[in-house]
Amino acid sequence: MSSLHVVIGGGPAGVFAAIRCKTCNPSAQVVLLEKTNQLLAKVRISGGGRCNVTHACFDPRQLIQNYPRGAKELLGPFHHFQPKDTVSWFEDRGVFLKTEDDGRMFPVTDSSETIVQCLLKEAAHAGIEIRKQQRIQSLQKLEDHFLIQLDNQQIKANSILLATGSSSWGHGLAKEFGHTIIKPVPSLFTFNIPSSPLLDLSGISVSEVIVSLKGFDLKQKGPVLLTHWGFSGPAILKLSAWAARALYDLSYKAVLQINWLAALNQEIIYQNLVQSKINHPLQAMPSLLPSNLLSRLCADLHMDSTIALGRLPNKTLEQLAAKLYCDEYLIEGQTTYKQEFVTAGGVDLRGIDFRTMESKIVPGLFFAGEILNIDGVTGGFNFQNAWTTGWLAGTGMGNLKSCIHL
Ligand SMILES: Cc1cc2nc3c(=O)[nH]c(=O)nc-3n(C[C@H](O)[C@H](O)[C@H](O)COP(=O)(O)OP(=O)(O)OC[C@H]3O[C@@H](n4cnc5c(N)ncnc54)[C@H](O)[C@@H]3O)c2cc1C
Repeated sequence: MSSLHVVIGGGPAGVFAAIRCKTCNPSAQVVLLEKTNQLLAKVRISGGGRCNVTHACFDPRQLIQNYPRGAKELLGPFHHFQPKDTVSWFEDRGVFLKTEDDGRMFPVTDSSETIVQCLLKEAAHAGIEIRKQQRIQSLQKLEDHFLIQLDNQQIKANSILLATGSSSWGHGLAKEFGHTIIKPVPSLFTFNIPSSPLLDLSGISVSEVIVSLKGFDLKQKGPVLLTHWGFSGPAILKLSAWAARALYDLSYKAVLQINWLAALNQEIIYQNLVQSKINHPLQAMPSLLPSNLLSRLCADLHMDSTIALGRLPNKTLEQLAAKLYCDEYLIEGQTTYKQEFVTAGGVDLRGIDFRTMESKIVPGLFFAGEILNIDGVTGGFNFQNAWTTGWLAGTGMGNLKSCIHL
């Protein structure tokens, strides 16, 4: 007896799950319902059009450390499907990935279209029935099946996968089915610092700084980018993810601390400056940072960065060390600008069986991707969540024991 499974949402989680479901159960009918007229829209624009598919981190214990929400729950799933499996899955279909120095993995073509076409080809080859521009009027669970009311048709399904990303519609439906929704708030954003004296230095980046929020035990190391509205770059995006909820609660008003040299402590910076002064008293400040930035930080201390070191009193070097170690800026808002922004919050993970991604409340109802209260930092971790939870949900649906006659 053949079964029918419906995937709602044609993003990476939904498409991947549909393919997996059909692979596990080739005789099943798999229907994918997408609200818009385009599948995989976010994949297309992802990674600046290059699609950061996953991250070269192959140890599940290390991998979960990149998920501010969902780390504990993803440990088991990553033992079933992790970045190594993502790489193999695409390679088996002729799509090869390359690893950048920071671990991010992209298709060798540097084009997200390669990933989109691979997934669409695979879905077509598997025989998935894709229906775009679908409006679901209602979705009910009857005794042993689901009834989906579309504009001019009803579908009876054995199982349903909700893979609608951060849409409030998906959250609302999950809530109707008895799931708790953790309030969605933005994650992976840049900081607005209107009072920053560095706004006109927009475009300058520093390859390794440590950023933290005053009063919080949250630190991130990595590159920072000066923008015309404040700060951006991987270190800032990561900090925003870990502090997503705290910053939301503070209405995005907090003090950003920057350790410009990613130094262990202030004393080390001070000693190095003193040593430079002793060794090269006639030379100007060593090029610790891009010169425009360094001179601006010095100017803030009423100090000339081009002056010979020998003419600077140690007290001044001490002040500079303090500034380089812990420079402070007032965050007054957030901006998601051409970045890999995601939503923190969504379906509460306590209601999900992470062996199959099936609801613990409504048998036959599955969840995958960003609809869940899972989000990763920047670097390919959010797509990996979509691949892993999509793969598990597709497996769970395909292997469903009970099968009604539809
Ligand atoms: C600009 C940008 C760049 C990004 N770059 C990266 C990157 O390089 N690497 C990375 O790991 N992550 C990246 N992300 C994050 C990543 O795109 C998401 O985490 C991922 O797309 C989530 O997948 P999903 O399938 O769960 O949801 P989505 O991709 O949001 O897909 C959900 C789908 O459901 C559909 N839908 C919603 N409501 C309904 C409904 N009522 N009926 C039917 N269909 C519905 C939507 O139209 C959509 O097609 C980026 C995000 C953005 C915004």
